[in-house]
Order: sequence, then C-alpha cells, then structure tokens
Amino acid sequence: MHKHKYKYIGEYPKAGKFGEYGGQFVPEVLMHALKELEEAYILYKDNETFKAELDYYLWTFAGRPTPLYFCSRLSAKLGVKLYLKREDLVHGGAHKLNNALGQALLAKRMGKRRLIAETGAGQHGLATAIVGASFGLQTEIYMGKEDIERQRLNVFRMELMGAEVHPVGSGSKTLKDAINEAIRDWVTNVEDTHYLLGSVVGPHPYPMMVRDFQRVVGLETKRQVLEAEGRLPDALVACVGGGSNGIGLFYEFLDDEEVALYGIEAGGEGIASNRHSATLCAGSKGVLHGTYSYLLQDEDGQILPTHSVAPGLDYSGVGPEHAFLKDMGRVTYDIVTDGEALHAFELLCQYEGILPALESVHALAYAKKLVDERGMGKEDVVVVCLSGRGDKDVEIVEKALNEQNK
Ligand SMILES: *Cc1c(COP(=O)(O)O)cnc(C)c1O
Repeated sequence: MHKHKYKYIGEYPKAGKFGEYGGQFVPEVLMHALKELEEAYILYKDNETFKAELDYYLWTFAGRPTPLYFCSRLSAKLGVKLYLKREDLVHGGAHKLNNALGQALLAKRMGKRRLIAETGAGQHGLATAIVGASFGLQTEIYMGKEDIERQRLNVFRMELMGAEVHPVGSGSKTLKDAINEAIRDWVTNVEDTHYLLGSVVGPHPYPMMVRDFQRVVGLETKRQVLEAEGRLPDALVACVGGGSNGIGLFYEFLDDEEVALYGIEAGGEGIASNRHSATLCAGSKGVLHGTYSYLLQDEDGQILPTHSVAPGLDYSGVGPEHAFLKDMGRVTYDIVTDGEALHAFELLCQYEGILPALESVHALAYAKKLVDERGMGKEDVVVVCLSGRGDKDVEIVEKALNEQNK
C-alpha cells in the first residue's frame, strides 16, 4: 500500500487527535451528541448516494467548480505568476457554503429539524441561513453584539432567508462568545438540533469533518493548476482564521513536498501591539471550545481579546490540525498586518477588477512577501485562495482608508 508522508491522509485520527492536538473537551451531555455525529459522518462520508447528492448541490446551487484565475496584470506588477482560487464566486460570497451544505445534508439524514450556528463576520451565519432555507430547516444564529454592529448587512441577509439571529452580549461580544452560546443551546436541544460549526475548530469530529467538506477547494486547484501550468505550483497561500479554507486548499498537496504551503494569520496592528489574532504565530497551547490547540491566552489561561480589520479572522483559537502542521513544519505560518491587507485590497481592485474579502487579502498580501522576502520570481507559480468577496467589507475599507489619508 502507498504510504503517505503526511500521516493523517485518508487516516481516521484516533480519538480525534492530530498528534497531541484536538480531542473532545466537552461536558458529559455533549459526548453522546458528538458520538452520534461522528457515527453518522463515518456512515455517510463514503456513501455514493450521499456524495452524489452533495455534488449535485455543490455544482448546481453553490456554483462549483470555481475558476482558477490567472492575474496577468498583478503578476507583472508583483513579479510572480499569480493565480487566484475563486472561492469568492461560491454562492453566498465565500467558501463557507461548501461546509454548510455538507453538514446540512448530514443533519437531514440524522433526522434533525433545527440548525444552530455561530458567526463572527456573518459569512458562516449566512451560509447556514442559506442551507436552512433551501432544505427547510429551522435556523438560529448566535452572533456577538459587537459583530452585529460591524456587519449589519449580513444580519439582514440572514433574516431575509428566515433565520433568527440571537445577539450575544456576554464577554467581548464577538465570535468566541457566540460559540459559547451556541454550545449552550446545543446542550439543551441536542435531540432535534444539529450544531453547524463553521470552521475546522471545536471538538472531534468537527475539525476532520469540516476539513473533508472543504477539501474540494484543493482537489479542484490541483487539477486546474496542472491543466494551466503542466506542473504543481511552487507555493499555496491561504488566510487562517479557524483554518477551514486553508486546510481545504492545502490538504491535497500535503504529500507534495515541492509545494510550499503558507497559512497567514491576522497581524492586526502588529504582534507587539497586542492587537492581533495571530494564534499560531504568537499564542500558546491550551483548550478552547472543546479542542486542544494553540490559542491567545494570558498567564492565568484567560482568553485574550483579538483584533483584525478582517472580522472573519478575529478569533482567539485555531484548528488543531494546523497546530500539528505548524509543529511538524509542513506549513509555514506567518502574519500580515491590517495595513498590508488594506494595500493588497486596493491592488486587487485596481489591477484585476476584483473586490476581495478583507480576510482573503491577508493571503494575497503575502504573495508580495514571497517575492520580497522568500526569493520567488516571475517563473514561480503561486496560488492564493481568494476565500471570499468583499461586498460585506466596503464600509470598513472606506473608514480605514479615510483614517490612513488623514
Ligand atoms: C470565515 C472566513 C475566513 C476565515 O475562516 P477559515 O475557517 O480560516 O477559512 C476567511 N475568509 C472568508 C471570506 C471568510 O468568510
């Protein structure tokens, strides 16, 4: 049998562990629900009817496969062959729907009639509202009060699709508090409710399952880049919040050692400012939301507040498989600051006519660093995951640019 260099390819992580990371650190009452979910996932993940149904929705509803686009003008400007994997063209405006569709179909098979989800920027809440409406499942979304203020338009979009949005006023009133509330709801309503978690975080089986539903990004990219270039790319770059678009892009390439992999975290106003969300680059090990991974905490283990100009990267935890990939050195994790991200945002608008999500431009900004700091040149092929589109961000960008120009 072919032996993979990366040991978690096609291999079921024992007890949900990637090395020392992952696991199930949850209250007793949730163990049963996680077991039920894990069993259902294992039953259906290789089931031909289930896979065909998921493909049907990915192709006819979500708009897959998404294009791999060669940026000719920006390539010339940056001095590298730049391709974008266009997840911004997925229905709903981000890669989130890939996972939401998979989990909603699974929830239906499990006989659940109600979906709950957490959301930060609102993109995952929107994806959940979309599948709730299209499959006729009652949908309730938990969202921090502060995020509701920042992302009003996404709240309204969710409500238009029939979802109920619950404001969360506890803690820092952001994503981590919304996850706490969603977990609390799940504990109470576990019989008829599926918790549709939005990234490769949380207790097992979520990190594995969400990764598998996002693998489609990397599978398509590999086929498309071989078609376009006749060879594998030199580097792949993705932004990392919880890490789902990143692991989705990377997974098919983990065994291809000639492909350098870069996961980019939100450097905010710089690591020294303490206003960032650079969990892997500046955090330490601990348990958050049911999983053992890197996180941003103080000496007493209290979760630290985070900051990023990109609402979807503003999370104090990160997926356990990324923690494992960091320690083994297969993926290089680095940061891009708010200012660098905003500059890349403007570049993509002006050179390619594409309005990107603020999260995604963290990855794009790194393409320039590959040239400036890592010696890549105009023959090198770099694929950046454009995880989402930027309509949701124009107000933030307008404000930030006005600040800069003062
Ligand atoms: C949610 C989001 C992210 C961050 O989530 P990951 O799980 O790290 O992928 C990145 N980009 C966009 C557009 C998002 O909506």
